[in-house]
This record gives sequence, C-alpha cells and structure tokens, in this order.
Amino acid sequence: MLRGELEKLSSTDDLTGLGNRRQFEQHRAQLEPGDAVLLIDIDHFKRVNDTSGHAAGDVTLQVVAARIRGVLRRSDRAHRHGGEEFTVLLRGVGETFLLEVSERIRQAVSAGPVPGPDVTVTVSIGAAILTGVNDAGALERADRALYRAKQQGRDRTCLARPEGAAGPVPG
Ligand code: GH3
Ligand code: MG
Ligand code: MG
Repeated sequence: MLRGELEKLSSTDDLTGLGNRRQFEQHRAQLEPGDAVLLIDIDHFKRVNDTSGHAAGDVTLQVVAARIRGVLRRSDRAHRHGGEEFTVLLRGVGETFLLEVSERIRQAVSAGPVPGPDVTVTVSIGAAILTGVNDAGALERADRALYRAKQQGRDRTCLARPEGAAGPVPG
C-alpha cells in the first residue's frame, strides 16, 4: 500500500469518513489565536440505539457526519471525536461568524429525518475561540460550553466564556 493511502487510513474514522481523533490532535496543534473549535454532541443518542437498534445508530452517525460536512467550507476541518461527538475546527473566525456556522450545522442536522431509521436528531454545540497559541484549553472551554447547552435544554449552541473570565456569566 502506498504511504499516502496508509496515512489517510490512519487519520480517517471508518464509520463516517471524517477525520479521526488522531487527526484532530494533529490539526489542533496547528491552530492559532482567532481560530475556533466546535464540539458537537448528538442529543439523546442512546435513545436511537435503544429504540431503533445499533445499526440504525450507525447510519444516523453517518448521516449526521455528512450533514455537518455539507455546510462547511473546504478549509474547515471536521472530525469524529469519538462515540456521538464531533469536532469542527475553523480558521480565523469572529464570534458572529462562529455562531452562524454553528447554527447552520445545528439546523442541517435536524432538518429532516435520517433516511432508513427515520429518526430525527438534534445536536448541542459548545463553541470556543482560541486566545493563545496552541491553546489546549480551547477544547476544555468548548466542552464546558457544550455542558451548558445540554443543561439549557439541548438543540442549541453555547459560546465559551473568554479564558480567565470569573464567575457565572450568562451565555
Ligand atoms: P446527551 O443528550 O446527554 O448527550 O445523551 P446521549 O444519549 O447522547 O448520551 P450518552 O453518553 O448517554 O449516550 C451516548 C450513546 O452513544 C451511547 C453509545 O451506545 C452510543 N454510541 C457511541 N458510539 C457509537 C457507535 O459507534 N455506534 C452506535 N450505534 N452507537 C454509539
Ligand atoms: Mg456524548
Ligand atoms: Mg449525546
């Protein structure tokens, strides 16, 4: 097998064809201040498996991945982070554009039922903009924002608080 093919295989998620966690780590290391990370988690995904079966769950993951990729620009990077979680990395975006992209993703995912299993799923999204070089904390901040999105009722995006911001700030 050619070296390029091997590299592609080892950086690709088998089920969805998106980049895998390994590739996410590589891309993340290249980020700069002003770039952004979205952490996307399918809402109540366990129910899909429980009611429609694991195979239907797999198809749903594939369709959600395709819908996410479908609204991104060529320069944006999407990965399957693991399980029913995805990441998107965006270069040089402001808060307004970041929230626009996130909203596009959210709407595309829930726009219609997944053909086959015929289930409709929604996603919750945590969004964070990098403030420092190789900001490893951005993913953590996105994760905390995702947690808030879940708590506030799911099917929504929460923007991470700026690094070092103290206290409970709304949004
Ligand atoms: P929440 O809205 O809080 O995120 O609820 P949830 O049900 O999505 O979260 P939870 O973490 O309880 O369940 C995630 C489920 O995702 C459980 C697991 O079986 C399923 N899952 C993870 N990876 C795969 C996969 O590759 N295929 C299938 N079919 N299911 C998967
Ligand atoms: Mg999850
Ligand atoms: Mg989930």
